[in-house]
Amino acid sequence: MRHVDVLIIGGGPAGISAAIWCKRLGIDCLLLEEQSQLGGQLFNIFNEIIDYPGMRTKNGIEMQREMVKHFVEMDCLYEVNTKVLFIDERSKTVKVKKQAKEQEICYTYLILATGSSQRKLGVPGEQQMIDRGEVYSASADGERLKGKTVAIIGGGDRAFEGAHLLSSKAREVYLIHRSTRFKAREQYVERIISNPCIKVMTDTEVTAIHGDRHVTSIDLESKNKEYKNKEYKNKEYKNKEYKNLLVDAVLIRLGVAPNVDLIKGKVATAQNGLIVTDDVHQSSNPFIYAIGDSCTTPLFSSISSSAGQGAIVAKQLSSMLNI
Ligand SMILES: Cc1cc2nc3c(=O)[nH]c(=O)nc-3n(C[C@H](O)[C@H](O)[C@H](O)COP(=O)(O)OP(=O)(O)OC[C@H]3O[C@@H](n4cnc5c(N)ncnc54)[C@H](O)[C@@H]3O)c2cc1C
Repeated sequence: MRHVDVLIIGGGPAGISAAIWCKRLGIDCLLLEEQSQLGGQLFNIFNEIIDYPGMRTKNGIEMQREMVKHFVEMDCLYEVNTKVLFIDERSKTVKVKKQAKEQEICYTYLILATGSSQRKLGVPGEQQMIDRGEVYSASADGERLKGKTVAIIGGGDRAFEGAHLLSSKAREVYLIHRSTRFKAREQYVERIISNPCIKVMTDTEVTAIHGDRHVTSIDLESKNKEYKNKEYKNKEYKNKEYKNLLVDAVLIRLGVAPNVDLIKGKVATAQNGLIVTDDVHQSSNPFIYAIGDSCTTPLFSSISSSAGQGAIVAKQLSSMLNI
């Protein structure tokens, strides 16, 4: 069976950084990525990235190119289209699937850099919509959504920012949130509440998404309460009792959840699902480390913190391996 000293699962910024640092420190290391390309969430960033020191890029794809170029130039060992299916922490092996073939790889230390994914609504029609490619970015798809009726689901910064961006392009924007309390920053909420082009529906849940070739409408379940926030109670945005709303596009903005299914029950996780680590990113299992979005609260997650954590863990493992 193949053995490596350090096995990294996940080829986003955290995994890429850990692999570069392992290479620099002379550690025998292999990175596995289930997608066909390295980069993780960088592929979902359509706006300019202005907050990574020394590398200002017009979007995530440009940063992905730069990072992968560096990674390849360093001669880091990796495999794409390779999904880790199972971790046996007792025998320190993982089972992986590559092009329908399964194999096992043995490790001395494992680094989980599995990142995070957008939360889903979990309603009928949602997965079909995603599979049809009806996934939009409010900043990049303004032209695609021009003149359309758009529903944005969520109550955080990204939902509010998306509604603001699309209000000048779309014909109508509905911001739909299941409660009357928003997590979004106050200034974002103010901007939306005072925007006549955006209809805010609170205490309302989306229960289905309809459409065969493209989205045509959504079903709503309204708790039919009045808008509770005192400051805005005089505004006209009270919940209306829609049962079915005709829309052309749905943007789901419910925040992110860490990708930790693989390790559930094998290392300690917090209530929010994040892997619990110490200051050198060791989990409750001394041979398993976690970095990036899999262990970082969304408020603090970033490309730079993921890269930094990759460096910390590689340096720590270099001393553990006596290199
Ligand atoms: C729209 C958007 C905009 C953002 N803008 C910014 C910004 O401007 N600045 C900033 O600093 N940050 C930004 N971020 C956040 C940043 O992208 C993330 O914090 C960062 O990508 C986290 O890196 P990661 O390596 O931990 O995880 P990810 O990037 O999520 O990568 C994880 C990788 O692990 C792989 N993986 C998961 N499970 C397995 C498995 N079982 N087997 C094999 N591979 C697996 C996944 O396929 C993925 O490639 C943004 C995020 C989004 C979504």
